[in-house]
Amino acid sequence: MSEPNLNEFDEKARKKELKKIARKLQRAEERLVDYERLVDRTQHLLNTRIQEVEEARTELSQSETRFRNLADAAFEAIIIHSDDIILDCNEATLNLYKMTKAELVGSSLIDRIQTQILKPEYDWQHEATEKPVEVTHLISDGSTVPVEVRSRSIEHKGKESLVTAVRDITMHKEMQARLEHIANSDVLTEVGNRRFFMEMGQREYYRTVRYGQPLSLLMLDVDHFKKINDTYGHDIGDEALKALADICTATLRNSDIFARLGGEEFAAILPGSDINGAMILSERLREKVEQMVTETTSGPIKFTVSIGVTQQVEGDEGIEMILNRSDGGLYGAKANGRNRVVRA
Ligand code: GH3
Ligand code: MG
Ligand code: MG
Repeated sequence: MSEPNLNEFDEKARKKELKKIARKLQRAEERLVDYERLVDRTQHLLNTRIQEVEEARTELSQSETRFRNLADAAFEAIIIHSDDIILDCNEATLNLYKMTKAELVGSSLIDRIQTQILKPEYDWQHEATEKPVEVTHLISDGSTVPVEVRSRSIEHKGKESLVTAVRDITMHKEMQARLEHIANSDVLTEVGNRRFFMEMGQREYYRTVRYGQPLSLLMLDVDHFKKINDTYGHDIGDEALKALADICTATLRNSDIFARLGGEEFAAILPGSDINGAMILSERLREKVEQMVTETTSGPIKFTVSIGVTQQVEGDEGIEMILNRSDGGLYGAKANGRNRVVRA
């Protein structure tokens, strides 16, 4: 066996080396292809993402436009604010507060709105409230407006914010006041009715008991009123009742509670008056009515009233009890000849 000569050995090693290099090259080429594929895929994904972002951006701007249109069409004032700074508002806000957008946006709610627009009954700059809160806002022209405020937390341009809706409730308040007036007043004489009397009376009674102040009550009934109706007619009777309500209102204090309890029967609560003061007032009232000449469409008429007076005493359980006692006094005045004041 001949020994391999050195050249032969070199040749074999070189071929082996070449083969190795060729394999490496091939693997490198394969990896390159893989890498190119990866680059392609990444590029594709990137393009898709860019397109998606573009679409989202367009959609956002469209939805912002839609939101703005919607907000501007809303009747309520809508204000977006964060850390006391007004970020945005709709047209209704500008109309309500009589300010320009430049005056409002970027300004502090406290500086611009709280002092100029809002009385600080409710911390709407910082508190979200789903439940509407009624407050009074001050408008830039110095007038005030009753409003209902609701706030909700939102993210506005990546910032934790509040969106506040402010609704002008002037009409609602006026309607409420009118309904309340209708429910509490007598249609003919326009003074309070029995419902008003009992409600206010009970409130006054509690106050009297709590603060230990005196309270008196007088009850008044027209004498022989049936005769007025029979002689002159129901309409003239009505005129007499109006004249009586007017003279009572003029004689009583603003703080007194006066009402027509029904028919030709009236009553007054005199907070702060004891029985002596109430007797003096009642006598003055009786005299005034006696001297009064009521000019009616059927000529002048005259009439008198009987009055029962009482004051709140220990053991009274409510205004009804005091009213019933004064009714006893009134009965006594009628029984004793009418046109008089009787203390009960
Ligand atoms: P007295 O001195 O005992 O009180 O006699 P009176 O005639 O006033 O007694 P009474 O309480 O029986 O009569 C009340 C009358 O008041 C009867 C009713 O027809 C009349 N009346 C009740 N409501 C009205 C009203 O709204 N308008 C008019 N014109 N009359 C009324
Ligand atoms: Mg009567
Ligand atoms: Mg009567």
